[in-house]
Amino acid sequence: DLIYICSPNNPTGAAYNKEQLKAWVDYALENDAVIFYDSAYEAFITDPELPRSIFAIEGAKKCAIEFCSLSKTAGFTGTRCGYTIVPQELVFKASNGEDMSVNAMWKRRQTTKFNGTSYIVQKGAAAIFTKEGMAQCRENIAYYQENAKTISDVLAKKGIRFFGGKNSPYIWFECPNGMDSWDFFDYLLNNAQVVGTPGAGFGKNGQNFFRLTSFGTHESTKEAMERFEKLF
Ligand SMILES: *Cc1c(COP(=O)(O)O)cnc(C)c1O
Repeated sequence: DLIYICSPNNPTGAAYNKEQLKAWVDYALENDAVIFYDSAYEAFITDPELPRSIFAIEGAKKCAIEFCSLSKTAGFTGTRCGYTIVPQELVFKASNGEDMSVNAMWKRRQTTKFNGTSYIVQKGAAAIFTKEGMAQCRENIAYYQENAKTISDVLAKKGIRFFGGKNSPYIWFECPNGMDSWDFFDYLLNNAQVVGTPGAGFGKNGQNFFRLTSFGTHESTKEAMERFEKLF
């Protein structure tokens, strides 16, 4: 009944294309399900063919709620602000047969339980969506994307299978030599003094994977990947 989708994905860095998202929208419409679409990384999409919102898919307004945080778009991780889109078209049949608007329920919830984001943070958030603000955010993201390339290039050179790094700040790769992700974490820490995120932390399917992030400086990313390269 409730479907959670995060695309571009954390931790795998993978991003859905239109056909793949449409399959989910069609499924939700057919099964009376609601999709929670987490677009926290939409600003990292560079491929113009990839959807940056679920509402790029026909029918999504009848079955999806999209939310985005400004944490990754504009470095708001400590400042804390985001937005939620609950379409007017999202209507349900209640048990008494009456139509229920999810938008009206959400509005009620926001105005009675949440007293709003502080004014200074709202002003900062509004500045993101000005021409100047968007240009500055894009510049920041482009900086991180160069780190993603630095990381991806080394993995590709070493023949390590990886995902992401293109439309995402994360690079998700298979631990070399079939290593377990926590063993790999220790190995990397002890032999290169480089820290990453073991895939097992995201669940058992991540057991042989590892996540590296591009949210660093060019200098430290380069240094870390030089050390990484010497190990394999
Ligand atoms: C960072 C992140 C967010 C945003 O979380 P905030 O609490 O707003 O910082 C949302 N979803 C995913 C998958 C994330 O990685």
